[in-house]
Amino acid sequence: MREMSDKSPLIVAIGNVSVDLSLKVSSPPKRGGEVLASEFYLGGGGAASNMALAVARLGLKARFLGCVGDDEYSSLALKELMEEGVDLSFVKTVKRGTGVVVVLVEESGERTMIAYRGANLEVSEKLVTQASIGDATSLHISSLSGTKTLKILKRARSINPKLICSYDPGGSVSSEDVMACLRHLNILLLNCSELRELTGAHTVNEGVRVLTELNPELLIVVKEGARGSSLYRGELYWNVPAFDVRAVDTTGAGDSFNAAFLVGYHIGLSPNDLLVFSNAAAALKVKRRGARAAPTLDEVLKFLKEKGFGKLSNEIRMRIRKATEIK
Ligand code: ADP
Repeated sequence: MREMSDKSPLIVAIGNVSVDLSLKVSSPPKRGGEVLASEFYLGGGGAASNMALAVARLGLKARFLGCVGDDEYSSLALKELMEEGVDLSFVKTVKRGTGVVVVLVEESGERTMIAYRGANLEVSEKLVTQASIGDATSLHISSLSGTKTLKILKRARSINPKLICSYDPGGSVSSEDVMACLRHLNILLLNCSELRELTGAHTVNEGVRVLTELNPELLIVVKEGARGSSLYRGELYWNVPAFDVRAVDTTGAGDSFNAAFLVGYHIGLSPNDLLVFSNAAAALKVKRRGARAAPTLDEVLKFLKEKGFGKLSNEIRMRIRKATEIK
């Protein structure tokens, strides 16, 4: 990794890290039964850790805050992050096993999961300290409950009031506390079904209106799978279709998307360019297997050029260089 200035943006992600075992099956076994798997993939996972890795690959400084067990799985869970130079100084080793997720993937792409949360259950606002976020530009919270997130946000804001705070609730949208988090957030990233579940609205527009009433300044990013993504701010709205790629594995697509969105935000891209850049990073991830297959900056910039976004590609390279250069 090239040397970066101390002044370059630092994105901190807090949340889960795990070892993922993905098994390809024709269908999940019946109770007491057995099925054969035709393929398997063993590697690191966990939304926040995937996202920190993706940020580092895109060329900004990243730090991950989370918990692992004192066991042999922790090094597998953190392997790519270590290789990519993600700051792991504040990862805590606790007296529970490292998180493990078994994913049964059917031919259609349908997933059935069994998650052992283990060490991840100990992730809390206690990881947020002057040392762990005092020098950060932004804090991203991934897939933690609204209750935990609210405590993290309050503590983070009291330590570093200028912090840009973003949250992707993942599947954990049911709590009322998610709504209470909104006024502490700058950016909320979620998919269509999470938006509907969270707000009780029938349409995306209705859901966005509910959220905007609670925080008119909030940037709301809606990820729409193979349809692309949209960005809302108050009355303003942008939509960019997804890139047409052959989808091999969508695990971690949302994390790659989030990483590119935050990187793009830090280097000051326009709303439309932010969505193009994020869709491109996610599309490249979708073409490959595994939660940790986020693309590098060079790969995204090459892809953008090939797809006719040469000007944007050059602009992003220039802005990232400027944000990270040693003066
Ligand atoms: P999440 O993983 O958070 O549920 P999505 O499934 O919407 O989010 O995926 C995140 C982003 O990944 C999408 O907004 C889109 O840019 C990209 N993406 C997902 N599936 C595809 C696909 N089949 N083809 C191209 N891009 C995709």
